[in-house]
Amino acid sequence: MAIVATDNSRVSVEELKELAGFWAEKGDALSVYLQVKPSQLSYKEELIFAKEKIQEALGTLKGKNPAESADIQRVMETVTGMKGNEGRAKVIFACGRQKVWHEYNLPGDFGARAEVGPAFTLAPLLAQHQGGRRYCIALADRNRARLLLLEAGQISEHSQILDEDKEKIRTTGARKSAHLERKKDEQVKKHYSFLAEHLLHFREHKDYDELIIGCRDEMWPEIEAELHPELKRILVGRFLVDPGLAAAELIKEKAQAIVDQRDREEEARLVEKSVGAAAAKGLGAMGLTAVMGALEKGEVRTLLWPKRNVKSPHAAWLCRNCGHLETAEADTCALCGWGMRRFARAEEALLRHTLGRGIEVRLLRCAKLPPPNEVAALLRFRAETHVPQALAS
Ligand SMILES: [Zn+2]
Repeated sequence: MAIVATDNSRVSVEELKELAGFWAEKGDALSVYLQVKPSQLSYKEELIFAKEKIQEALGTLKGKNPAESADIQRVMETVTGMKGNEGRAKVIFACGRQKVWHEYNLPGDFGARAEVGPAFTLAPLLAQHQGGRRYCIALADRNRARLLLLEAGQISEHSQILDEDKEKIRTTGARKSAHLERKKDEQVKKHYSFLAEHLLHFREHKDYDELIIGCRDEMWPEIEAELHPELKRILVGRFLVDPGLAAAELIKEKAQAIVDQRDREEEARLVEKSVGAAAAKGLGAMGLTAVMGALEKGEVRTLLWPKRNVKSPHAAWLCRNCGHLETAEADTCALCGWGMRRFARAEEALLRHTLGRGIEVRLLRCAKLPPPNEVAALLRFRAETHVPQALAS
């Protein structure tokens, strides 16, 4: 197996699967996550911190294959040359012995860490892949509309999509029926309805997950009146802004505040729901053994895990063939007979198991799960109890 060198701002599912399946028997797979803050001082601090972290990792490799120190040398050179990396995280997975070097510049909040072991540390990446949401920010007043996408803390403007289509529709519309342009109010209504149609269209094409509206207060009733029920359902919030003048950074700040507030409330709700449901033997599971059992039975809808590293992690074993999980040491899989792999931190095994299984992963930033394992899940159904209302929930 040889993964070619890349420098990407996105990790495809295929690459994730390949990285997840990678195994270094000699324990020399190196994973580095490094986030650099925009200010120069923080950058220097981060760089020192990163180098220390990588040195620690280097310490665990002493006396082994020289290719590994070549990896670390290359990581050091890459990190030194980052110069802020445009606010993106530098993520590197390397194993010189197996000629693997994967380098990404990713949007998102990964923190800083460097680890060496038999497998790559993928939990932060997998969690973002299966839990990260894309927010469409629509700004509108009576004449203008702007579309922006907020994803993993990065904002990008997509207003040109709207402008191109709008040009076409207006031209055809004008040729067919000039009377549509007659009244200003009709025009405004049409303008908002045009925006709403496009928002719905992009939503149906899975271009984004949730919606945030920016407008002046007096415009809101007219805009709201044109929103399809599905758009109202995914509407996270609204903020006050002058659509024509607002800079992307200001829009991002306002939208992110709405997202953060909603995330805090949602986390608390998810934790309360899963804890309550687990206690009542309903649609919730609590603790590593129960969550693993639920994963194996295909019951899990949402996996909840703390964002920070748990102090005393529990190990887990994962079958490299069928994804079977165990909490106790096992050499071969009880289901298919293939070899089991030990992951020192259970989340690495569990998150690998969720890959490609349509399970949502939520890393909890604020809300806390009860010890000892600090892991929980919300279930779609419970296989053994056949809860009839489960599918409808
Ligand atoms: Zn198996």
